[in-house]
Amino acid sequence: MDRVSNTHTDTLHRPRDDRDQRVTQCSALVHVSPEHVEMGSEQTIPQTDRIKRCGRCYRGASCY
Ligand SMILES: [Zn+2]
Repeated sequence: MDRVSNTHTDTLHRPRDDRDQRVTQCSALVHVSPEHVEMGSEQTIPQTDRIKRCGRCYRGASCY
């Protein structure tokens, strides 16, 4: 598990090394309902043009 996707906004985040799987490195998903949060890997959540990378989780990426 190295990706957390907010399917509501199509934004990728990086999970924090924590027992709470909904916690990302930027804490952006704390208030997002679980139905919009998808945990996965590079294989299960492929990068597409539609999906944005969180600027705080991925340095150098454009934010939304
Ligand atoms: Zn993030």
